[in-house]
Amino acid sequence: MTPVAAPDAARSPARERARITARITAQITARKTASRAPAVARCARACRQARAHWPRLTHFVLPLVFPNRCSLCGNLSRASLCVSCDAAYWNEPRLRCTVCAVPLSRAFRTADQSHAKSHTASHAAARYRCSACTQSPPAFDATLALADYRAPLDLLALGLKFRARLALGEEFARRLARLAHDSFDAQGMPDLVVPVPLSRERMIERGYNQAWLIARPLAQHLNARAEATLVRRVLHTAPQSKLDRDTRRRNVGRAFVLDPALECAVQGAHVGVVDDVMTSGATLDALAHTLKAAGARRVTNFVALRTPKD
Ligand SMILES: [Zn+2]
Ligand SMILES: [Zn+2]
Repeated sequence: MTPVAAPDAARSPARERARITARITAQITARKTASRAPAVARCARACRQARAHWPRLTHFVLPLVFPNRCSLCGNLSRASLCVSCDAAYWNEPRLRCTVCAVPLSRAFRTADQSHAKSHTASHAAARYRCSACTQSPPAFDATLALADYRAPLDLLALGLKFRARLALGEEFARRLARLAHDSFDAQGMPDLVVPVPLSRERMIERGYNQAWLIARPLAQHLNARAEATLVRRVLHTAPQSKLDRDTRRRNVGRAFVLDPALECAVQGAHVGVVDDVMTSGATLDALAHTLKAAGARRVTNFVALRTPKD
């Protein structure tokens, strides 16, 4: 006799429960997967948008998550400089020549005080002029400098130029923009901002122009047009700190040419020329000569740091 299969009734309670449980579990899993699909799609879309705006994210979000270190003392800081270094090193008041930004001596300041009350503010630009700019005026009209080129602030210029600490360009630009707003009215702001260009050899060697890293954000702060390629350096001039002023001028006199396609932007314009460090002023003088010859109305230098002596 054929063995009788277990009756459905006999297996039903346990097996049926298991079968129903398995079916319900499968349905729940399917629903979860289905409900997750739009979330996954939304996430993927958000990631695509994030990638599209990656530069902005890196600028605004990452500093909150991964704080920087202070460029001078190395302490944790979300800004390029910590609060202590900012207060200690940046805010030294200096009386500077309005043309070349060289610090004026205490003797000059003392002698000037006797005339200060008899002059109006409009005479200030002519009054605060060093002897070199009085005797042999350079081609540029004015220079704004943040501070002297000396320790420890020289580390900032060196970090930007040689260690690719690119955020320092924005730091310098922000401070220069504030100084410009303190020094000039709306009419005194440049129409066009250009960096002191590097030679082709130097550009290949370094990979970036540190002056452009300051010039571009500075132009944004001043609502001016920025042109990275308007001026081209055609002569690679060697360091010339030991040469006299006339020799330096001759050496860099033919160093720059303007892009013919952009040259019309210079005519009648107030041009701001940006550099990280101003030493003798010969390079900026030669560049201003070139810009004035092309029709620039006024040339103002914006330099982060200025060597105290020629
Ligand atoms: Zn610090
Ligand atoms: Zn001067």
